[in-house]
Amino acid sequence: MTDTADDRPNSAGSGLSVQEGDLTSQRQLSDEELLAQLADTVRKEKALVDRWTASGDCFIISGSGKVHLPTCSSVSAVVDRQAAWAPFLDDLDRVRAWHGTDNEPPMPALMTRADVEELTRYSSCPECSPTLDHRDKRPSARGWTTLEAGNLNFRHFGIPFSLVEGAEIGVLTKLSRVETADGLDFAAEFDGIVDPVTDPLTEVMYRTDFGPQMS
Ligand SMILES: [Zn+2]
Repeated sequence: MTDTADDRPNSAGSGLSVQEGDLTSQRQLSDEELLAQLADTVRKEKALVDRWTASGDCFIISGSGKVHLPTCSSVSAVVDRQAAWAPFLDDLDRVRAWHGTDNEPPMPALMTRADVEELTRYSSCPECSPTLDHRDKRPSARGWTTLEAGNLNFRHFGIPFSLVEGAEIGVLTKLSRVETADGLDFAAEFDGIVDPVTDPLTEVMYRTDFGPQMS
């Protein structure tokens, strides 16, 4: 078996499915031959998932858009390829039904951090809590502009803001950024809340028609 493109991490989810020609011939394979072929597939998929996991830059997104660490129990059924394949290995007719859509277990959707942050929408799993830029990232509601508090500037003074969850926090009144030995000391004060926003990654939004006047 040569080292083909199928072994490259970036072909995750697309490269490992058996080709149509193989599928046709699968119908002629004896149980033993088919099991041997599937064992090879399981081994390759496991090697691929292991390489991704070992890279340290591996996140898994579920069908509902929730992002997990590969160690999270809620994705173990797809991450553990042996477990994922077990019901298929016990039911070779299911595997042979090659016109079906459920004759192999889905691969986990493997992503790098950069891949995840490019998504316009995702949520971080509260169980494994991967350290991402957002807990719940969504496109701005129509008519609103969203930005991270760290990107506020003097042009935003006087504009009423809300948190992305919808809570109104009032007008931006003061911004301070102090570089210290421990890092950035950030505070954005709004007249509708007592405590300033101190995490520059906090997302805030304003109605686009209230936005900074560029004239
Ligand atoms: Zn999780």
